Amino acid sequence: MNISKDFTWEEMLYSDTAKVNGIKNVPEREERMAIEELVKRLLQPLRLAYGGPIRITSGYRCAELNELVGGVPSSQHVKGQAADCMIRGNASELLGLVLAHKLPFDQAILYRKRNFLHLSIRPENNREKVLFK
Ligand SMILES: [Zn+2]
Repeated sequence: MNISKDFTWEEMLYSDTAKVNGIKNVPEREERMAIEELVKRLLQPLRLAYGGPIRITSGYRCAELNELVGGVPSSQHVKGQAADCMIRGNASELLGLVLAHKLPFDQAILYRKRNFLHLSIRPENNREKVLFK
């Protein structure tokens, strides 16, 4: 089922770790709303700006899954506010597009070695914080 033209619920909820460990990883209503906002306000506009497929390597994580993958308890993934994005090329290109198109975001963390971009958004008071790891 699609959330927007190019993003589906399946990819926002899917996790190998959850599958292997029998974790359901089902968001509650509040988290579902956050995921929709993340996709509609940030990921889909970014997809259009980029003009190619963006792969979500980690979207929503229930608390149990987040702990298993070593995420911090306060992770925005647990709230449905964050997604890790990969493209065929360098993930820094995505960061450049987020900034150039002035897309709303709370945190953007570029993981240079692992070549993915963590993006998050909050309902309000977005900090527009850019970090490099
Ligand atoms: Zn992340």
